[in-house]
Amino acid sequence: MPEGHTLYALARDLHAAFAGTAPEVTSPQGRFAEGAARVSGRPFLGATSRGKHLFLEVDGELWVHVHLGLIGTFTIDERPWTAEVPVVGQVRMRLATPEHVADLRGPNLCAVVTPDEVAAVLARLGPDPLRPDADPDLAWRRISRSARTVGELLMDQAVLAGVGNVYRSEVLFRHRLSPMTEGRRLRPASWRLVWDDLVRLMPLGVATGRIVTVEEQVLAVEAALGRGEVPRLQERTSYVYRRDGQPCERCGSRIRTRVVAGRNLFWCGNCQRRR
Ligand SMILES: [Zn+2]
Repeated sequence: MPEGHTLYALARDLHAAFAGTAPEVTSPQGRFAEGAARVSGRPFLGATSRGKHLFLEVDGELWVHVHLGLIGTFTIDERPWTAEVPVVGQVRMRLATPEHVADLRGPNLCAVVTPDEVAAVLARLGPDPLRPDADPDLAWRRISRSARTVGELLMDQAVLAGVGNVYRSEVLFRHRLSPMTEGRRLRPASWRLVWDDLVRLMPLGVATGRIVTVEEQVLAVEAALGRGEVPRLQERTSYVYRRDGQPCERCGSRIRTRVVAGRNLFWCGNCQRRR
């Protein structure tokens, strides 16, 4: 499933391609035909994300709320000089201007909503580490009162918005925290480290399109971005994600996996022991 950094980059790119235009909105597949008709031809005011949710604002106090779910994709193409761009696959929503075409396929959700409905969605979501105005204390209040494990809590979008399965496993490994620790037993200082690390790591995901968590590579990406260069990435950019059965880079123990909150969690049973 795309994590918050993917949605953030997508909102940025949709904004760049369509803000200030009045795209024709259609539903080639038909399932969003009514919604498309309501927003088509209206000035496109902007695109924004919160966690894994995407919001497109059009003139007239209307928003299109999109959640990609597990398999959804939203691709943006520069339009060739030829007039028609063929529809490939099941396109739920197409935005089209003379310059760009964007196709949404396989989303979990694509609906026209009101400002009140947008506010209700936002109110249900925890702080998003990619947003400068995010308040980590909101997440801490929920974590510190919970008997659920941190492995579960980090996936709960009402606790923290945008973090998914890869960042969850990786950030816990980076701080040697057991994913099986109950939220109420987590120390405030540990939470602060996790939050600050997500605030540091997730923008690198936006910038590179990859989740990079191996420290030497994190430093290299930060340095390249600081110089205004495109960072070169190695094949493996994470410590434990999908590495079950392989030796831990730090201690050589076998990396384990278990389903937690519906997805495979990965961790080192030695480095990340329960305290
Ligand atoms: Zn280890």
